[in-house]
Amino acid sequence: MKHKNISIFIPHAGCPYQCAFCNQKVITAQEKLPHAEDVRKICSQALAEMKDISDTEIAFFGGSFTAIARDYMLELLEAAQEFIGEGKFSGIRISTRPDCISREILDILKSYHVTAIELGAQSMSNSVLKANRRGHTAEQVVKSANLIQHYGFSLGLQVMFGLYKSTWTDELETGWKIRDLKPDTVRIYPVVILKNTKLAEYYQSGYYQLFPLEEVIPFIGQQMEQYHEAGIKVIKCGLHASEFVESEMLGGYYHPAFRELCENHIYLHQINSLIVKAMMQNQKIPQVFAVRPDCISKATGQKKANLNWIEQHRHVRIKITGDENLDLYEVKSAEESVCI
Ligand code: SF4
Repeated sequence: MKHKNISIFIPHAGCPYQCAFCNQKVITAQEKLPHAEDVRKICSQALAEMKDISDTEIAFFGGSFTAIARDYMLELLEAAQEFIGEGKFSGIRISTRPDCISREILDILKSYHVTAIELGAQSMSNSVLKANRRGHTAEQVVKSANLIQHYGFSLGLQVMFGLYKSTWTDELETGWKIRDLKPDTVRIYPVVILKNTKLAEYYQSGYYQLFPLEEVIPFIGQQMEQYHEAGIKVIKCGLHASEFVESEMLGGYYHPAFRELCENHIYLHQINSLIVKAMMQNQKIPQVFAVRPDCISKATGQKKANLNWIEQHRHVRIKITGDENLDLYEVKSAEESVCI
């Protein structure tokens, strides 16, 4: 069953921080703050229009829900209450900063039927967090994540790939430290450098060098695979294709089909491993590979990129077929095979 959110965006009005990647002016100038009547309108409309409301949460997104003025936070939570329960939505999801979590806040959230909390961890390297002016530490991420789990909320962690001063080692460490926290979900946001941000200054003055995109995509694919193996759901990878991003970005890791490209690499890695294993054991090279039916195009790759890569590097023409008994990212060699 697919999880759904009724998203209500809370712009970061009055946020006391200035993270190096964030352009608050653009965000706050474009969005009006929603109030109780807006919450009621959005929720009643969704209830009336949605055919299937199972596993659907009201989601207050936009960054730092627990850092907004207390009266305003309570106004929004209060307005959502009449839409939660039997025959209605299953709960409330919020996103916030790791340093804006306390027992007092969690008690309030619990009493208002909040079920899931997403934390903007961004990186687990303190030097990277500092260089990007996040205003919190990796230790605060760990402390808040543990407290959220202790209270029984579903935990989501958001990470940013490729922040200023982050190295491949920082990225690897962030991956395993996030997996160690055992969140239920992860969102991976590869950095996009927006105009009028500190990152834009660093980038334009040549201090901020980006990794090549062709190395970033397989790396994030591998991270996604590791999260999947650890039982952690990657609910987002890459930014939504939008005119806003395309007109406001100066550089960074953006592609309208970012997630798809990373998943293509997961399948290429799996197929290649099976072929290399057969070669090492002097066995027949499989020619037909089965994947979950809705993943055939992911395994084939954009413009058959994976099939072409295998043909070029392993000298075998392969076919991809569907098998509904297989899990996401699972690949097995199907019957047909040829001798080496
Ligand atoms: S990303 Fe940073 S600066 Fe931007 S709204 Fe969130 S906490 Fe504030």
